[in-house]
Amino acid sequence: MNNLTDFARLSAIVNSSDDAIISKDFDGIIKTWNNAATTIFGFSAREAVGNHIYIIVPPEFEEEEKSYIQEIKDGSHVKSYETVRKRKDGSTFPASVTVSPIRNAETQVIGISIIARDITEQKRSEENNGRLASIIESSDDAIISKNLNGIITSWNTGAEKIFGFSAEETIGKSISIIIPTVKLEEEAGIIAKIAEGEKVDHIETIRKTKDGREINVSVTVSPVKDSNGKIIGASKIARDITQKVEIEKERQLYIKKLQQLNDYKDDFMMMTSHELRTPVTVVKASLQILYEMVNDGEVDIRMVEKSLSNVDKLSTLIHELLDVSKIQSGKLDLDITTFNLTRLLEEIVADMQLATSQQQIILKQPGKLLEIRADMERIKQVLINMLSNAVKYSPGANEVIVETAVKENGVIVKVKDYGIGIPAEDIDKVFERFYRSGGAASTFSGAGVGLYISSEIIRHHGGRMWVQSKQDQGSEFYIEIPHKFAV
Ligand code: ADP
Repeated sequence: MNNLTDFARLSAIVNSSDDAIISKDFDGIIKTWNNAATTIFGFSAREAVGNHIYIIVPPEFEEEEKSYIQEIKDGSHVKSYETVRKRKDGSTFPASVTVSPIRNAETQVIGISIIARDITEQKRSEENNGRLASIIESSDDAIISKNLNGIITSWNTGAEKIFGFSAEETIGKSISIIIPTVKLEEEAGIIAKIAEGEKVDHIETIRKTKDGREINVSVTVSPVKDSNGKIIGASKIARDITQKVEIEKERQLYIKKLQQLNDYKDDFMMMTSHELRTPVTVVKASLQILYEMVNDGEVDIRMVEKSLSNVDKLSTLIHELLDVSKIQSGKLDLDITTFNLTRLLEEIVADMQLATSQQQIILKQPGKLLEIRADMERIKQVLINMLSNAVKYSPGANEVIVETAVKENGVIVKVKDYGIGIPAEDIDKVFERFYRSGGAASTFSGAGVGLYISSEIIRHHGGRMWVQSKQDQGSEFYIEIPHKFAV
């Protein structure tokens, strides 16, 4: 009676199991088949019992099946393994199988019991997890998870690369190791939002690396929930955008520079139209008077001189404009010859002195003649620009000094005046095209391109041009022509 109850209880357990529980003899003939076996394999107990176990084993796994039967015969107790099984409709699926010996009352092994489980879902989720893990590992972004106390619970390779800390150095530590002190409050706000179940999308902020550098990052933080939907932490994706921020900064600077150039150009257009209009008006009026004088038979030489000087002004301006466009289009060609700089300076100074009564132009040169290889006309143009600026911008002064020296890197010419000087905020800009310093622009005429052209000419010679000046304390303009052009 007892035995019968036991049997009923056992068979109830077997039949209510979710796993297929099957027994077979050593010839592989199925002896018992529970309900779950029917559900999993599709064969009813009637169809399966008495049939060979191969009805559920794909042909390529028959050898494997034979080998473990042998192991059980040889005395092995239990064996679990993952394999593939076949359903009635021929489809196959991954299965976890445990085989054990069935013994009679005399402990003789008389058959084999098989417990089989369909692990398709388990495999799928393992694969998914594996795939997710490899995505996380191969990501260039830092993917970090932390609990609601801000303790780091995972740290991928991207995070190692961006922040410099290894996973061992961070897991179990507070997330604050990568947060600059000034941003700690922001982090507390993020955690509070996460605890409410909100996501924090793409905020741009600052984080700290192991070596103390501050980097710009774009961060997205999402809540992590357990299987009951309770929020247990946050996952954070951080992207290093330092380079992007740098590029944006450069872009902004570039835009500002372009706007500035555009402003200079507008000023320049206004000034040029004025500069062109005045001499044209003078020349036109003079020619009109000349015309009447020629008609009346009396010609006044002063009228002709006035016209010539104004036409000169026009022609200088037009040449300067042409030079600017040559420089802009990369067509400033140099005609290099060997010439005597000492003599050239003597001529220029003498000519300038004739046109200048206010200042005495003093020329200081070393005893020996300086021969250089350069474009003589262009160097002359630079020197005239430097000297005429010195004269123009020092109306109350008595002298202008021109000095040459031979230095290690090249021949240096300095033009020093005692004039209005240049305010500190303008000193870097005087070599920009169309730039005119505020004070100078309102009092003195000029196109604001002379120094730009001069510095470009010197640059084309491989040299440099610079200035030292303070407001109201005069200016010293320098050019250096390198030795590779000097003989
Ligand atoms: P321009 O003299 O036609 O304005 P430049 O390009 O020669 O053009 O000079 C640019 C600006 O540099 C001038 O407008 C002036 O503000 C400043 N500058 C040039 N030379 C001197 C100088 N010797 N002293 C003071 N300011 C100067």
